[in-house]
Amino acid sequence: MVKKQTPFIALIALCLMSTLLYEGVLFYATRGTPQSQEWRPSCLVSLFLQASLIVCILVSQFPKKEDDSVSSLDPLTGLFSEPQMEGIVRAFFADAKHHENKYGLICLDVMFFRRFNSMFGYAMGDQLLTAIGHVLKTRYDCGVRLSGDRFALIAPITQTLVEDLNNRLLDTVEAQLGKHYRRMVLFKFGVCPIEEQPRERSVQKLANAAKIALQQAKRTPKVHSVVYDQTLHLKTEMEKNIEINMLHALSKDEFSVYIQPKYKLSSQRCCSAEALVRWNSEKMGRLQPDSFIPLFEKNGFIVEIDFFVLSHVFHHIRDGLASGKRVLPISVNQSKITMSFPYYIERLANLLERCPIPAKYVDLEITESILEHDHEIICSLISSLKKLGFTISLDDFGSGYSSLNILRTLPVDTLKIDKEFMNESGAQDKNRKILRHIMNMSRDLNIKVVCEGIETKEQYDFLRYINCDYAQGYYCAKPMPFAEYEKTYVEMGEGDEGLCLV
Ligand code: C2E
Ligand code: CA
Ligand code: CA
Repeated sequence: MVKKQTPFIALIALCLMSTLLYEGVLFYATRGTPQSQEWRPSCLVSLFLQASLIVCILVSQFPKKEDDSVSSLDPLTGLFSEPQMEGIVRAFFADAKHHENKYGLICLDVMFFRRFNSMFGYAMGDQLLTAIGHVLKTRYDCGVRLSGDRFALIAPITQTLVEDLNNRLLDTVEAQLGKHYRRMVLFKFGVCPIEEQPRERSVQKLANAAKIALQQAKRTPKVHSVVYDQTLHLKTEMEKNIEINMLHALSKDEFSVYIQPKYKLSSQRCCSAEALVRWNSEKMGRLQPDSFIPLFEKNGFIVEIDFFVLSHVFHHIRDGLASGKRVLPISVNQSKITMSFPYYIERLANLLERCPIPAKYVDLEITESILEHDHEIICSLISSLKKLGFTISLDDFGSGYSSLNILRTLPVDTLKIDKEFMNESGAQDKNRKILRHIMNMSRDLNIKVVCEGIETKEQYDFLRYINCDYAQGYYCAKPMPFAEYEKTYVEMGEGDEGLCLV
């Protein structure tokens, strides 16, 4: 009879009977046939043995944790995968011997891994990942392959933690792939110190913090590793707040456009201006562009901001022309993200159609960093913009990517020299010599030059002395609300070129 019992029935029986209170007959049915079993507490031992056997059978049918995790290890590196991270890190800290040291969770990334693959082939790329896996498995704890070329591990925090890890990785790359490859690999690291034993879900938080630190290291040239600290925490919180608030900010009219005059140095009068966005947030207060533009460029919202500023400027020009006021051209910054957005030209043309103005009143400032894109594509984009009637300035010239050679082929009207060039500290003499040459060359190429960041009379006089075309900076005028600009520089303007500086 016992043999015929299904495990399920036996378990029910066990639950009832193990209380030792029940005495009587248990009725049940097997495949529709009524059955019964008499029960007395003396049956307990035999039933306990049966139940143990059944539990063993059932347990043997559950997936074995150990085996399962081994079978789901990353087949290439033999490391754990991200979903397993919470479990292995908590198990690591459950061991009392790991309470003595201070540990950190480290994320690492192979920089330019795609390029490595295309240069040396996928098999070599796999070998590189295997070498990393080897170091993490043999020298560190809780090695995890997060994704393609991203890894995580736990290590005691020491002064030389990152240096040691980097050296071990490079030594292994050299040993397993060959000497030549050591120089072809660059690792970056994000470290999150673990302050207390991880609780539920806190491993994910630690990993996110290490990833944020890694992101910061990747974004910063010449920086090898970043440790997640209070500053980075505040920055991340700020970014989160900005992203939460940005969508409603446009509809709540929180963005506005400020205007900074540009002066023509030959006449010393305001002859045009640059539009600069400002954000007065109900939740976060007044924010300067440097605190939100880079984030908007990352999440794409910059496209909306650039078109918001463009639309504002177009309407200002249209209203000025319609009321017969003197109207000066206005420059509008165009992010490279905006310019590479599909239908950018179409959207601009559409704006011109909806708010018809002579496009020559609008100068588009494109940043020098756009030059990292394919030269021909940029030239054709600029040509399309010029066909619509806009003039083009190359902003922040001299801050990074530009080569003087580019000026020969890039159809820009104006060069805006980066304000760092006017920085009084550092190589002032050299900077000024370079400026003179840029000025001469631009004149030959029929390109106008604006110097920005002019803060002193001395800088301003120097620009006049070298025959620079325009100056922009606090010495001439600070950015101001549109209404103030109108009053001071447009309505009070004299002749063709407005208020005289001297
Ligand atoms: P930018 O295009 O180089 O603009 C010039 C920046 O220099 C402005 O900062 C301006 O206020 C500041 N500036 C002007 N004169 C001086 C001076 O004499 N000394 C110093 N130290 N700074 C001076 P702002 O308004 O904070 O804008 C910063 C950057 O944010 C801009 O640099 C531009 O790259 C970006 N930005 C601002 N508005 C927009 C926008 O509507 N769209 C896009 N895509 N970017 C914008
Ligand atoms: Ca600009
Ligand atoms: Ca600039």
